[in-house]
Amino acid sequence: MIRLQSYVADRFVDGTAAGRSFVDPTTGAVLGTIDSTGVDCADALHHARTVGGPALAAMSFAARGALLGAIADALQARRDDWMEIARKNSGNTTRDASVDVDGGIATLKYYARLAKGLGDTRMLIEPGADRLAKGPFEARHVWTTRPGAAIFINAFNFPSWGLWEKVAVAIVAGMPIVAKPASGTAWLAEAMVRAVVAAGVLPAGVLSLVCGSAEGLLDAVEPFDCIAFTGSAETGRMIRAHPAVLAANPRLGIEADSVNTALLAPSATPEAAAFERLVEQALAAVSVKAGQLCTNIRRILVPAGVEDAFVATLATRIDDLVVGDPALAEVTVGPLVDEKQLRAAFAGLAALAPETRTVRGGGIPATVVGADTAQGAFLAPTLLVADTGAVLSAVHDVEVFGPVVTVIPYATLDEAVDLAARGEGSLAASIYADGAEEAATIAARLAPLHGRVLVVDAEVGRGHTGHSIVMPQCVHGGPGRAGGGEELGGLRGLRFFMQRTAIQGSPTMLADLAAKATETSL
Ligand code: NAP
Repeated sequence: MIRLQSYVADRFVDGTAAGRSFVDPTTGAVLGTIDSTGVDCADALHHARTVGGPALAAMSFAARGALLGAIADALQARRDDWMEIARKNSGNTTRDASVDVDGGIATLKYYARLAKGLGDTRMLIEPGADRLAKGPFEARHVWTTRPGAAIFINAFNFPSWGLWEKVAVAIVAGMPIVAKPASGTAWLAEAMVRAVVAAGVLPAGVLSLVCGSAEGLLDAVEPFDCIAFTGSAETGRMIRAHPAVLAANPRLGIEADSVNTALLAPSATPEAAAFERLVEQALAAVSVKAGQLCTNIRRILVPAGVEDAFVATLATRIDDLVVGDPALAEVTVGPLVDEKQLRAAFAGLAALAPETRTVRGGGIPATVVGADTAQGAFLAPTLLVADTGAVLSAVHDVEVFGPVVTVIPYATLDEAVDLAARGEGSLAASIYADGAEEAATIAARLAPLHGRVLVVDAEVGRGHTGHSIVMPQCVHGGPGRAGGGEELGGLRGLRFFMQRTAIQGSPTMLADLAAKATETSL
């Protein structure tokens, strides 16, 4: 039986209570326990701020980038181990695990390169000065490292990527980290942190991990800290309203859930390439990571005239999916992460039921390969159709965190945009249109509702990264319901962890300041 430990103040420590168990979702077997009772979160944060922070602040951007490269190398060396843990504890197929494991390592490497490009300074300065008076008095804006700690509270569905994509940006910015993975899948994060600690690549105090409850972590938050939360909107609201968070007013980023949209352009016919491209992404939405991606397509808006053809084509493709034990090569859809998530998905399906008809799935799969539905947390890939989008509410509101999509027909582009807006702010949308001009028009209309819009036109064809995949070059986050946060996006991600300051003074002083900094726009 595995017992996860926290790594705080540069020591691995055990919780003092029995804690909660975590499972293999394919079999329901208990794999181990996790508990943070007695772990001194206040001391962990103090250690990060006073030991890890100064160590990073003294390093140049390039040197911090070298740290990320060393972390990536330490993780890459044991990739097979991580893939195995992702299979056992998250129910990931090889493809699913790669999104999490390789995605995390690739993001570390990407930021290692970006940091190297920032050179041997420790401060950024924005291009251009603003003249403030008739005499020699100007302003420039600089970005410096905040003297606090970065606190991450992460969701269960990306124990690797969710940790390392944030670690990467925080380290480039110069902030030490105290991360709390979701308890159900923390094994992978804990094992990876152990490997990084064993490799001895990080200065003391730079990386801490609290395995178990977040209790005590938020109580100890201070004004210069940055809290990055990823998870459900409900938990996000609790964190926003936490008394210590309200009192200290740290930076707070909320990456929450959303009911993301894929839109087939009004001009598309069943013969259009765009039609097929959407079918491919819809199929990914009901198979990759069993639909447990925050960016996953939930609603598919199609022109009313092609609804039947689209539903029939997608249903046929869904019939080819194989649900079961993710260890088996033929399996394309693994289980949900645990029984609790399965129950939550059933509750979501029940909420959608009055507004939809079920074309495929909708419950426990009739057959699973190499596993038993009585033990494993399996949900059949599910295709729902809602015939009257405008008068519905649940399909725009309920995120079923599993392999479930709802097709909604629309009559006009205006109606389609209105339907997308009913999601009240989402992480990602995708548009499928053969013509670039039509695609651009739709993209401009969906942009204010989303953090990212994937546009698949004839020129892009199959050569895109997918609706759900978060690329480190692009911002991730969304307005409104999606949390209002923003992360990644290359250097833009540094904004969250650094302080922008207007420095007013003489041109001579500002030139001296600029000589100590790297000029770049964030
Ligand atoms: P969750 O239940 O909200 O939990 C998220 C994290 O918050 C976990 O680490 C959890 O710890 C912790 N937590 C729970 N209650 C807390 C409290 N009172 N105070 C402080 N921390 C608390 O979400 P989840 O089920 O793990 O993740 C699924 C959801 O995350 C989905 O809705 C998905 O859309 C969303 N998500 C969003 C993004 C994004 O980038 N926008 C990415 C991934 C997932 P324990 O596990 O120990 O309870």
